[in-house]
Amino acid sequence: MTINDDIRKQVRQRANFACEFCGVTETDAGSELTVDHYQPRAKGGDDSLENLLYCCPRCNQYKLDYWPTQPDDPLLWNPRRESASQHFLELDDGTLHPLTTVGAFTLKRLRLNRPPLVAYRLRKRQQAEEIRLLTRYREIVLLLERLNTQLSDLMEEQHQLLGEEWELLRLLLRHKEY
Ligand SMILES: [Zn+2]
Repeated sequence: MTINDDIRKQVRQRANFACEFCGVTETDAGSELTVDHYQPRAKGGDDSLENLLYCCPRCNQYKLDYWPTQPDDPLLWNPRRESASQHFLELDDGTLHPLTTVGAFTLKRLRLNRPPLVAYRLRKRQQAEEIRLLTRYREIVLLLERLNTQLSDLMEEQHQLLGEEWELLRLLLRHKEY
């Protein structure tokens, strides 16, 4: 590999420190990931940034130096050029469903439904749901606080009106006495 530290840093940052195929982050993996050539060097790929991907060791291991050489050979998804949503649909159970032939091939080749990845996606979904619920909870607390303030203002107003009512009644009764 002739990838220097500077290029490596650029590839890592560009990928937000996560595998561009499966989404696992350095934090999740507990270590830095690998820099992979989308088109393998052995198959004519170069070291340009355009051809480099940040990739977890497992995806890298399954990908190996795959590159289509025959017209009928399937293409592997290029996460730098196309978004995941173009090729995969994430189901509620955390598995990916292919939407294209590229998606189907990549899913199979990189084993993107391997059990730890499915568990990982489920955990991400749960975290997103927890954040959604917490945000809603905070909104409701703020709303209740606002309603309480309005309620105490109204009670104060009611108290004043009752006082005024009592005063008017007292004056009316005094008039009647004359
Ligand atoms: Zn990966």
